[in-house]
Amino acid sequence: MLLRSLTRSSSNASTSLFFRLFPRSYFSRSSPATGRNIRRLSAAGTGSELFLRRGLRLLPAAASGCLSGQFSRAVSTQTATSYPGSQDEAEKLGFEKSREEFISECKSKAVLFRHKKTGCEVMSVSNDDENKVFGVVFRTPPKDSTGIPHILEHSVLCGSRKYPLKEPFVELLKGSLYTFLNAFTYPDRTCYPVASTNTKDFYNLVDVYLDAVFFPKCVDDVHTFQQEGWHYELNHPSEDISYKGVVFNEMKGVYSQPDNILGRITQQAKNTYGVDSGGDPKDIPKLTFDKFKEFHRQYYHPSNARIWFYGDDDPVQRLKVLSEYLDMFDASPARDSSKVEPQKLFSGPRRIVGKYPAGGDGDLKKKHMVCLNWLLSEKPLDLQTQLALGFLDHLMLGTPASPLRKILLESGLGEALVNSGVEDELLQPQFSVGLKGVSDDKVQKVEELIMSTLRKLADEGFDTDAVEASMNTIEFSMRENNTGSSPRGLSLMLQSIGKWIYDMDPFEPLKYEEPLKTLKARIAEEGSKAVFSPLIEKFILNNPHCVTIEMQPDPEKASQDEVEEKNILQKVKASMTDEELAELARATEELRLKQETPDSPEALKCVPSLNLSDIPKEPTFVPTEVGDINGVKVLRHDLFTNDILYTEVVFDMGSLRHELLPLVPLFCQSLLEMGTQDMSFVQLNQLIGRKTGGITVYPFTSSVWGSDVPCSKIIVRGKSMVGRAEDLFNLMNCVLQEVRFTDKQRFKQFVSQSRAGMENRLRGSGQGIAAARMDAMLNAAGWMSEQMNGLSYIEFLHTLEQKVDQDWEGISSSLEEIRTSLLSKNGCIVNMTADGKSLTSTEKFVGKFLDSLPEKPSSGQVTWDARLPLRNEAIVIPTQVNYVGKAGNIYSSGYKLDGSSYVISKHIGNTWLWDRVRVSGGAYGGFCDFDSHSGVFSFLSYRDPNLLKTLDIYDGTGDFLRGLDVDEDTLTKAVIGTIGDVDSYQLPDAKGYSSLLRHLLNVTDEERQIRREEILSTSLKDFKEFAEAVDSVRDKGVAVAVASQEDIDAANKERSDFFEVKKAL
Ligand SMILES: [Zn+2]
Repeated sequence: MLLRSLTRSSSNASTSLFFRLFPRSYFSRSSPATGRNIRRLSAAGTGSELFLRRGLRLLPAAASGCLSGQFSRAVSTQTATSYPGSQDEAEKLGFEKSREEFISECKSKAVLFRHKKTGCEVMSVSNDDENKVFGVVFRTPPKDSTGIPHILEHSVLCGSRKYPLKEPFVELLKGSLYTFLNAFTYPDRTCYPVASTNTKDFYNLVDVYLDAVFFPKCVDDVHTFQQEGWHYELNHPSEDISYKGVVFNEMKGVYSQPDNILGRITQQAKNTYGVDSGGDPKDIPKLTFDKFKEFHRQYYHPSNARIWFYGDDDPVQRLKVLSEYLDMFDASPARDSSKVEPQKLFSGPRRIVGKYPAGGDGDLKKKHMVCLNWLLSEKPLDLQTQLALGFLDHLMLGTPASPLRKILLESGLGEALVNSGVEDELLQPQFSVGLKGVSDDKVQKVEELIMSTLRKLADEGFDTDAVEASMNTIEFSMRENNTGSSPRGLSLMLQSIGKWIYDMDPFEPLKYEEPLKTLKARIAEEGSKAVFSPLIEKFILNNPHCVTIEMQPDPEKASQDEVEEKNILQKVKASMTDEELAELARATEELRLKQETPDSPEALKCVPSLNLSDIPKEPTFVPTEVGDINGVKVLRHDLFTNDILYTEVVFDMGSLRHELLPLVPLFCQSLLEMGTQDMSFVQLNQLIGRKTGGITVYPFTSSVWGSDVPCSKIIVRGKSMVGRAEDLFNLMNCVLQEVRFTDKQRFKQFVSQSRAGMENRLRGSGQGIAAARMDAMLNAAGWMSEQMNGLSYIEFLHTLEQKVDQDWEGISSSLEEIRTSLLSKNGCIVNMTADGKSLTSTEKFVGKFLDSLPEKPSSGQVTWDARLPLRNEAIVIPTQVNYVGKAGNIYSSGYKLDGSSYVISKHIGNTWLWDRVRVSGGAYGGFCDFDSHSGVFSFLSYRDPNLLKTLDIYDGTGDFLRGLDVDEDTLTKAVIGTIGDVDSYQLPDAKGYSSLLRHLLNVTDEERQIRREEILSTSLKDFKEFAEAVDSVRDKGVAVAVASQEDIDAANKERSDFFEVKKAL
């Protein structure tokens, strides 16, 4: 749902994917909280585990959308067999087999079929992975920036022939055990993937998706197009006309973020990639319903589809399901007309200057961005070259020690990298590198520095340790096959599609072992310079297709855009007769009525769902043995991890002085990126890369249910091959004890990178900032977290930037004080996940590590009871869309924790808030969250055109619940959907990690069982009772909005001084 690239292009905004709102993943509302750029092969963790607090629920839910490991193959009902006779069966079902291969990298048998009648291609991948994945992908190159592919992606999920309700997608969100359910729009294709571990559920999902893409209602019903795309809204002929539409507002949010705007103009291509498949808010209103329908007719056709199946289900069943749909079509020429034509390389460099909306405060002269982009080739690259380029990318930019990254950041010319890295998911690969936070007179210097550094790297090559570190990191991550919380089959599908969609070999991207071996051998024989220097020369230095983009801040742009939009709308209104205006008001009302009318029970029944009897009665228990090594508590999780050891060492922050709290994130970064007496940070980093799979350090805070004392810890997380466990613990020790806080210049960089990262977050995920702010008013853990990751942190970073020069001594000794306060055997906990034998064999290294820790008598605990003053706040940022929140503590109003609260809050989010805030309000998202540890119940909206109106919707939630009449089916669905959240699929390391967090928060397995039973027995009465709890949020809750000046002023005028106003950017 958020604009993020799911797989390989995480560093480059130009391949933007547009995700639908995806509540389940949303629970782990985690975000890369520091300015650190998370790169795809980065061993240093995903960053998403930072500040997990808000995402953590009593039950594992999506608690850890974080590091993950190899599959444990404990459960496998069906083995991936070769299926005798399947050839005939495939023939009978209308398919011919084009190719079959065993892919050892993913231990799968893959068969490529062709549907004879339509030419539709199907990859059928069989293995013993229970997390089954299906996806249908169409090639959808747009010709303009009206956003057709994106609006269509939203719209096809709004009802279909067999499932004629408003939004089957939402019904699936409510009542399925899916482990993945979403859709994405790429610049040239649209993907519809689903996943589930439950076979019945999986095929339900597949059928709804197939029916949706081939037979959607939206091509006959203009209302869907208006709702998801755009329409004129006029409530009364005397009022002003405005634009509404989910995609319209989603894209306004995208176009408010400077990094995204930059990404959008990088390519300047003459082909498909020169326009925006997501839609430019200025162009979206040019789209007509006819063009929209025609696009579907042309491209959403089996002849233009590629379909993927993956997992342990029956391969014949796959073809059966497909043939029912595909046989209904004849062949079409879509596959030819959707071909993406490559862009010819430019004969010389080009330069583009663009503007982005900036706040009026601060020194705008220092807010320029500059980025250099190369289109690498006219033809797609072979896998060997692509792999070498990926490697080169990691060497140049992958870690803080990588030379191109390091030199740019240390130059002091800018505050953070933008859009940097190789992008190879599209037809033609691209390389970009740039800086933001650059002074207007330094832009030229940045360009020169980039070029001279690349020149130097081509001339001098990389040092051996760096090459070894990158090699180990890449190999480790391939072996670990870390897909985090997303299914492995999905990640494979997206890799395969990257070639397949251009009519190339879909098998090739799955097979990396041979090319990797070849590359290693070449490096060993010829030396790394002979391998990488020619790549830099050919693809970058001697490549004429270089586009330089400079982005200038423009404090007027946001309001100019708004005025421009108003003018257009005024003209539209002036051109209409009274009759037409009356008609528009009537149409507006009609659309609203339709949106607010619930689906009939009959319509709802047609969406297939599971029965309560399909649901396991017990939660998943993680094997946990609590023991002790040298007086320190050690948790061991005996799980198959493919020879990888995952470990966490936890230290208590309980005796840290309040004032030092905002320094903690920078303290953590310093540990990993500052170096020791004997080793520069580059050497330390390379050593970690060479010996381990990565080490991360981050703070974790949460309220603890039934306790006044928050849980506040520093977690050191590491992983390595079991055979390298000694190195891992030695390196963890080195990081904790030997790193010296003496490098002022590096620290200064950390500060400005963090500030840049936080500001980006404020613009792009303002709902997180608003939520943190409200939490900080409501409880101590929230206050702590906000100090390290909220608006208070941004403010702190601003002052700190000045202070580094004036009082570095003071800061350095504060960092030392944090270390002294944390580092102690007392209160330390070690968590380990691996198979039993490996756990035993690594014990001695843990013992040695623990013995080296200082033994400190538990010093006086500091009481953490700070809060921000309770008040309604509006945080001003330059934006076209708002983030609106309201929250209150329902425990203090007398609510007693019950598992039904999960079901009810999910239901509120999926019905009341979805319908009012998103569907009729036009926001991209609206949801609620109940933190059962603290008792805080919060409402939040995302990219929202409204402000007070949204607050009124929140306030109406109690009445909604009281008036609710849910039938048995709806209730069952809600219960199953909740269990789906609770039982979310986890790889072994995530299981071990969740278990640790539960231990820290005193959540026992007995309690999880009780909550589960409460979930399963949720009744309508619980909904009605919950209304009172929600009323207390209405009456005593606090509102925080991150919004535009205009909207805040208007709100404060309407409700006299409702908000205290704070300026942030
Ligand atoms: Zn979207």
